[in-house]
Amino acid sequence: MPDSTAPYPSSALPDAAEMRAGAVLSIDLGAIQANWRLLQARLGSAACAAVLKADAYGLGAAQVAPALAAAGCENFFVAHLHEGIALRAHVPAGVRIHVLHGCFAGTEAECAAHDLIPVLNSPGQLAAWAALSVARGRRLPALIQIDTGMARFGFTEADLKAAIADGRALAAIDPRGVMSHLACADEPGHPANAAQRARFDALRALLPPLPASLSASSGIFLGPDFHYQMARPGAALYGVNPSPGEMNPMRPVVRLDARVIQLRDVPAGTPVGYGHTARTAGPARLATIAVGYADGYPRAGSNTGAAWFAGVPLPVLGRVSMDSIILDASALPEGALHEGALVTLIGPQRDIDAVGADCCTIGYEILTSLGRRYHRRYIAAEA
Ligand SMILES: *Cc1c(COP(=O)(O)O)cnc(C)c1O
Repeated sequence: MPDSTAPYPSSALPDAAEMRAGAVLSIDLGAIQANWRLLQARLGSAACAAVLKADAYGLGAAQVAPALAAAGCENFFVAHLHEGIALRAHVPAGVRIHVLHGCFAGTEAECAAHDLIPVLNSPGQLAAWAALSVARGRRLPALIQIDTGMARFGFTEADLKAAIADGRALAAIDPRGVMSHLACADEPGHPANAAQRARFDALRALLPPLPASLSASSGIFLGPDFHYQMARPGAALYGVNPSPGEMNPMRPVVRLDARVIQLRDVPAGTPVGYGHTARTAGPARLATIAVGYADGYPRAGSNTGAAWFAGVPLPVLGRVSMDSIILDASALPEGALHEGALVTLIGPQRDIDAVGADCCTIGYEILTSLGRRYHRRYIAAEA
């Protein structure tokens, strides 16, 4: 990543689109690859998949998927069927794409046509996939999800026992694996982790032996007992800390530099922004930047947190507006900041998780909300 005062490598002058942009979002594909390799090393012989739902958590599945495939990733997950269809064009043939939501009724043939593997979450999804398999005279591949204690997706114990007792639908399909999802993996001491693992083992023992997958990013850090044959990280690949409260082992991936539109000097007691929720404590220099809540910078970040310039924090003052934020730039020496300069909203001094904390949310939501108006710079993998 470029350092905090030099958003562009000197070799790459900004192009016209970049000069027009209110903010520049830099996405380090090499860091995503390094993060995948780190997780794969931690997983040992278990496979490290990659979750690319929501357009790779807002970072661009079309750019992220080829980088991960080049690093060696062979298993991808998306949430929606249409995400899987779109992803097909960006990964090499033979790479497996799994659809977490499964197929909505009537979309099964389309799922099969694009060579996607649905996650079967309910008896209804199993029945429809089995019916298509029978109609095609071919056992179509799928993953079976069981609910081990989140009450969100997957077969209940009763659903599973009924499907096994009947046997026909399960015999008609090609079950490639069994999976579940942890509710509290980011709290290593939470008793739900061991409870879900025990329940996973008990329920999958009812099925013939199948490759198993339980963990997403944080689950990988609960230890080898949680690795099974495949893990499904998303957030950690993109730099979110999978073990909150401890040092983040992941490389930062995202950097957001916002343009200063206007500077002004104001006296003490000046009310700032909508609702006059802030007033300057003393004579102040204010900088208005071209990022707002329409760009996914949460309004909950009003009057909290800071952007950075030349190693100096510039606190957010007043409410976050739709298209702008006002910063207190008084701590900078006279003349240091100028209109058109870029200040760093997400970067080395304030990572995705810190921005999430400042805005009463989590890094995941900051990532997946990243604005469509940002100019995007993809930093290519280093060879
Ligand atoms: C989103 C999701 C993941 C990835 O979770 P992260 O916490 O981002 O690693 C894995 N599995 C399922 C079922 C998911 O919904």
